[in-house]
Amino acid sequence: MGEWGQIGPLHALFLDLAPGSSFKVGMSFVLEKPPVFAETPDSLAARLVAIGEKAFRAGQVFDWLYKKRVFAPADMKNLPVSLRTWLAGTFDFEPNQPVRESISGDETRKHLQRLRDGSLVETVLLSAPREAESEDGGADAEGRVPSGAGAVTGHSRRRLTVCLSTQVGCAMGCRFCASGLEGFSRNLSAGEIVGQLLSALSVAAREAAPKTARDVVSGAGSPPPAVPVLPDNIVVMGMGEPFANYDNLLAALRVFNAPWALGLGARRVTVSTCGLVPRILDFARESLGTRLAVSLHGATNAVREQIMPINKTWPLEKLLPACEVFSREHGRMLTLEYILIDGLNDSSGQALALAGIAARLHAHVNLIPCNPVPGLPWRRPPSARSARFFDILCHRNISATLRREKGAGIDAACGQLRRQHAA
Ligand code: SF4
Repeated sequence: MGEWGQIGPLHALFLDLAPGSSFKVGMSFVLEKPPVFAETPDSLAARLVAIGEKAFRAGQVFDWLYKKRVFAPADMKNLPVSLRTWLAGTFDFEPNQPVRESISGDETRKHLQRLRDGSLVETVLLSAPREAESEDGGADAEGRVPSGAGAVTGHSRRRLTVCLSTQVGCAMGCRFCASGLEGFSRNLSAGEIVGQLLSALSVAAREAAPKTARDVVSGAGSPPPAVPVLPDNIVVMGMGEPFANYDNLLAALRVFNAPWALGLGARRVTVSTCGLVPRILDFARESLGTRLAVSLHGATNAVREQIMPINKTWPLEKLLPACEVFSREHGRMLTLEYILIDGLNDSSGQALALAGIAARLHAHVNLIPCNPVPGLPWRRPPSARSARFFDILCHRNISATLRREKGAGIDAACGQLRRQHAA
């Protein structure tokens, strides 16, 4: 199979994938007890009524989970004891367990979380100063202002972005990516994706707690419980291709958005795809309002194919029209992600071609200097070369950002922490 042999046979599935078709790549892990985070008000109320409980108890359970972040049924004090016992015996209430953390001086934190079957996924928390409040004061779709970590404490206002994974490993085989190096294991369930976010937010809440509370550990009793936090933004750009786990992704996005759960405005959530054209078209028909980012990384087929095998199935002449459909349906500017790799895709010619694509799609371009991955040959361009690439876009009036390196010191390239832990 030549140099793409490591991708595996799963890619053959994409060849006859039509919009609206249903398919599953790989397996999903089956838990002994289903995660409660996959439940909706209707599904949980139906279960409760079936055991003779009142339907309104479902709302109380969600209030404990998502508003108070209490995950032990025994602590849900307004529920009858018998119901607490039933809940504990019926559902898995534990968010994923954080097992390792890397922290960068630039305030990028990468968490390794262990799922129930022992699989490991990566979650990244990015904290940044809140440069300027938006016109709406940062309110979400329902008019609420998110309680970012700093906002909760009142000591500083910092913007919190959480980057989520949707699969254990990845089958897409992008040649610059550590997640793709070890292949694909399985999809995350919707409950695991939600649990991943809640686990990350629990860590953020503990960090946001005033130092005096966190430091009360020696002999003075337990520190007071951390105040729940909400992220300002969620980006689904971690391990895995989100659109290859489409149904679970959508179910999780609905929980993020739902007023009975996290209530995050859809425009605060961005899903990133390497370019699964049929799923982009499906996503364009969804009414969620979630933002879309497309990993381009090459502005011509010849360059893109060298690092993204998906381009052989869905080349630019198919990908770009699908992006146009999404933009038209949602009226939103999409983002083109572009990792700058020394000597591969950082030429003036690629910059000009990228400017043409961005102008056609009315897209924002996010340039990301490559994070070196051990075992892979790609290097970051010299900063002057990245700056020149950026200038070419700017001179053509393309909305673009050249990302400051975040997390370079903590193996922030997707999949690196998981590989280190396994070694
Ligand atoms: S870049 Fe994304 S789609 Fe490509 S191999 Fe890595 S995780 Fe998968």
